[in-house]
Amino acid sequence: MLSSKINETLNNQVNAEMWSAYLYLSMSCHFAAEGLDGIANWFKVQFQEEQAHALKLIDYLVSRNSRAELRELGDVPTKWDSLLDAFEKTLEHEQKVTSMINNLYALAEDERDFATREMLNGFISEQVEEEDSVRSIIDKIKLIGNNGSGIYQLDKELGARTFTVPAFCQK
Ligand code: MG
Repeated sequence: MLSSKINETLNNQVNAEMWSAYLYLSMSCHFAAEGLDGIANWFKVQFQEEQAHALKLIDYLVSRNSRAELRELGDVPTKWDSLLDAFEKTLEHEQKVTSMINNLYALAEDERDFATREMLNGFISEQVEEEDSVRSIIDKIKLIGNNGSGIYQLDKELGARTFTVPAFCQK
């Protein structure tokens, strides 16, 4: 049985992952409207990954005979000043999620809830990858600046991203 504090914090994390999904879907819509279909695709895949993260947590709550309670999602922004702005906001957001996961992990340790701690290992590694991949895109955007053919190439590259359920989210 999960403690009420762990149960509450896991439910908060479900909400945070769903809010992330909503944020990235909004970014996808924004770039689709700007004609950058590849960038829009990259954020759409990001949206799908966040949903997989939320589902992983929901499945875990169920497996521990607990309750997943879906809550209201707050508004998300709908416009960004530039490509760089959107990816910098993405990095900032993922850094926030990383610290939430770290706090959850520390709580599981404090409470000697080793099953929850073990389940979180996948999220710990995932956050390292998330931050790393966004940082490398930011580097490319800075290199490209306002160069049209550079933006065209990046749009093409990010357009090739496809969604697969992350390994740690598979049952
Ligand atoms: Mg996530």
